Amino acid sequence: MRNTRRGLKRDQWIDLARCLDWELTYVDEKQVFPELPSGRPWLSHEAWRDWDEPYRTTYAEYVETQHAKEVALDQLRDELGRVENFERLDRAWLSAIKLHAATLPLAEFAAVVGNLRAGRFGRTSAWRTAATFGALDELRHTQIPLLLMHELVRWDPQFDWTHRLFHTENWVAIAARHLVDELLVLADPIEFSIATHFVFETGFTNLQFVGLAANAHRVGDRMFEKMLQSIQTDEARHSQAGNPVLAMLVQRDPERAQYLVDKWFWRSWLFFSVVTGIAMDYLTPLPRRSASFKEFVEEWVLDQFQSSVKEAGLALPWYWEQFLQSVEHYHHRVYVSAYTYRATVWFDFALPGPDERAWLREKYPRAFDSIAPIWERLAERCLKAGPNVEWHTHGFTPIGFCNLCQLVLSGGTAERNTANTLVHEGAPYIFCSEPCRRVFQREPERYAGHKDVVKRILAGEAPANLLELLQHFGLSQETRGRDLQRGDYPWLQQRKLMA
Ligand code: MN
Ligand code: MN
Repeated sequence: MRNTRRGLKRDQWIDLARCLDWELTYVDEKQVFPELPSGRPWLSHEAWRDWDEPYRTTYAEYVETQHAKEVALDQLRDELGRVENFERLDRAWLSAIKLHAATLPLAEFAAVVGNLRAGRFGRTSAWRTAATFGALDELRHTQIPLLLMHELVRWDPQFDWTHRLFHTENWVAIAARHLVDELLVLADPIEFSIATHFVFETGFTNLQFVGLAANAHRVGDRMFEKMLQSIQTDEARHSQAGNPVLAMLVQRDPERAQYLVDKWFWRSWLFFSVVTGIAMDYLTPLPRRSASFKEFVEEWVLDQFQSSVKEAGLALPWYWEQFLQSVEHYHHRVYVSAYTYRATVWFDFALPGPDERAWLREKYPRAFDSIAPIWERLAERCLKAGPNVEWHTHGFTPIGFCNLCQLVLSGGTAERNTANTLVHEGAPYIFCSEPCRRVFQREPERYAGHKDVVKRILAGEAPANLLELLQHFGLSQETRGRDLQRGDYPWLQQRKLMA
């Protein structure tokens, strides 16, 4: 416990210092906190006055703790943040870093906006203080990876996509913006708190900041490991703002509370299964994998999310069975689809060989056998294509995207794709899954006007020809994704000799 100069103990003044809401006299509460930016249901300050979260950080404590974190990371960057440190790493792992670095840091910047809105329109001063620290946290989560990756751009131009992705019309950027703009920029503080703090941060970010950090450690990438861990300590604190907001909504409008948890769990799940699922099960070198993505999900998402939903007095999302099936199948299907469309992204892909496939089969006994034949066909094509491998194992037709999540229509299993359609006000829509369709149906005014890649092509706003589309996506010869070995794998060479 720290003492102030007057000798008061922290717990003697903290309650007073955290509750600095004054009584309004010449304006009323609704003018200061209008419903639109403050969130529904609109309740008086009186209803929110007991809002509390466990960290109860003061500004002095915040500055001291954060300063120590910055100093530690800065020292590490001097030792481990140079090109030569990254040159030593496995190239598939570098692809995992490129995927993380492009999708997360600018989303963190959107989270600054979401937190600042709560820092102004949160309904108690304790909430507003926690949100202000949250905004400062998210700013460092933007700046640290931008700074680290900037060093690498001169060595490998694909790292330029750390900053570039969100400013392009690349299909991954369209999907990522569709998610983070709604989650972090559009949402009012109540939806933001439940969606971002309770679902996204408490439910999922441990996959990336703890699980992927464990892989980074095994790969020998200490810089990335320590960066993720430093970020995670902030997430663990500011995500606690979500529980008291959710508790209030459960009390006042349980139906909407359930809807928001269901919606954001599904949307967050799709995002993490693409980013973390691919990084863990395909881009982490096989001998360095500590566990499968599914095992991380079981450990970090399933147990914890199920109990926190129960504690909040809510039910599991209605699509829980579909979610469990998706844990087995979805990211495998996205990865193989993206492999055959790899020139459209900014990182390189590995073709899983016999050892990787054996590992995947062991980890995903219910799903991998239906994926394996696709890899086998691609391996055969690689053998036949020789030096022309890039285009011989690549698709040329624009692929279909979900009108809600904007990701490839890869839901379901090999036997039964879960894509489904809807006509809304005379216009056709397609979705990767039932949960995506139901979210759209509940809030069509939010989503109906958005154009996915195919709709843009049909409207003449994007080219259909693949090479032109790559340019439109912001990719050059140097930056577009390739097969990591140019199809030249030792296990394929062996096969060739035996044939
Ligand atoms: Mn963050
Ligand atoms: Mn956060």
